[in-house]
Amino acid sequence: MTEINELRSKMDEITIQMIRMLKVRNDIAKEIGEIKKNIGKGVTDEPREDNLRTKIVSLCKELNFDESVATKFLNFLLNESIKVQSNNKQTHLSIFLKAKSLEEEGRKIIHMEVGEPDFLPPKIVKEALGEVYDKGFLKYGQAKGLPVFRKALANYVSNNFNVKIKEENIMVNPGARFGIFTAVTTLLNPGDELIVIEPAWPAYKDCAIHAGVKVRTITTTLENNWEPTIEQVTQKINSNTKMIVLNYPNNPTGKILPEKLQNEIVALAIKNNLYVLSDEIYSHYAFSNWKSILSYNYEKAIVTQSFSKSHAMTGFRIGYIITSPEIIDKLAKFSALCLTNVSEPMQYVALKALEGEITENTNTVQRRLQVLVNKAREIGLEFVVPNGAMYLFAKINQVGFDGVKFANDLLEKGLAVAPGEGFGDYRNFIRISACQDEKILVDGMNILSGFLGDKE
Ligand code: PMP
Repeated sequence: MTEINELRSKMDEITIQMIRMLKVRNDIAKEIGEIKKNIGKGVTDEPREDNLRTKIVSLCKELNFDESVATKFLNFLLNESIKVQSNNKQTHLSIFLKAKSLEEEGRKIIHMEVGEPDFLPPKIVKEALGEVYDKGFLKYGQAKGLPVFRKALANYVSNNFNVKIKEENIMVNPGARFGIFTAVTTLLNPGDELIVIEPAWPAYKDCAIHAGVKVRTITTTLENNWEPTIEQVTQKINSNTKMIVLNYPNNPTGKILPEKLQNEIVALAIKNNLYVLSDEIYSHYAFSNWKSILSYNYEKAIVTQSFSKSHAMTGFRIGYIITSPEIIDKLAKFSALCLTNVSEPMQYVALKALEGEITENTNTVQRRLQVLVNKAREIGLEFVVPNGAMYLFAKINQVGFDGVKFANDLLEKGLAVAPGEGFGDYRNFIRISACQDEKILVDGMNILSGFLGDKE
């Protein structure tokens, strides 16, 4: 008995020491965070993290200790540093909220910061909202979604993307954001790694950090056409890597990957048994060759879809996941735990929305993007012409440019844009959204042009 007690008190002492050291480590991380903020450096520093990872792997060899346990623990520590350094990060949402409060004071603001179509949902949605009460879709239902809706979605996806999808491949959820959250939280464990190609919509990273998952970032550049190299992806993969996120057409760049590169990335993911989480919410706004990840027939591919952008139904909070039945079963347990089921009336309304005509939405967004492209050229912004989605991600070539300050100052002139920093280490960039009438877009771009002129 004394022996076990002695060992236990040793263990307790070690644990207490570790907590003390964690506190010191977090305090240092905070200090580093302040310095990074002052010099305009992003939170994540991949080469530095890699360096530490290499040291730890060789230490494990020396100690004859399980590398996977050690690197998972390292991932926990790195995520803690990211959490303490990420406070006060400004994104399109903070600009949106500030714009809203200025509007409440009576100021006029042109909203080119948010990704929300200004057009209305298909007309049939209005009728469906009126008739759902009598149709009786009003009760608790199945966690995976209404069978009639799942069937209709399977047909819709099969016809639109030229793939064979069945009801058992579909799970309804309240928007793509929740789909992403569900996939990351259910399929990955704390300490696992997920690869994100930046610039990227921030929720992938945020969901991962929330779930204790380590994000490995691949930074792409305007100069390289927003394309990662296959070597960059290969380098990020180790035994803890469980998932890669793809989002094409991309928010914020509008990029669609060349087919060959996409094929290579998917092949690499398959070879390494990774989940491929493909957020295809902008698939209706693909203006050059685009191929759904579903077309690879990979059982670990998970596609998130939504009515938010294609059908202009952001406020309805409705979307769906397409993947293998085994994964659907896992995800449905989590969904049942959180939601019981997605609102039945909303599912009925979305079912009817599938009959709506949305080709005009596609044409409208394409025309608007062209307006942005033309104006951005005129102003002399640097950008890659978007192949799809609803945004232009532009570089502002000014010494010491700070996108957050710029976006806040620009608000005072009546235009809201999103700072690039919300999408990764892109301090020199802003995202301009094409979700307004063409005339308003031109007015907005003129405000931007005038403001840039003032600053020169
Ligand atoms: N994915 C991407 C890439 C997005 O840009 C957005 C919204 N801006 C979403 C998902 C969220 O979609 P939903 O409204 O369906 O949650």
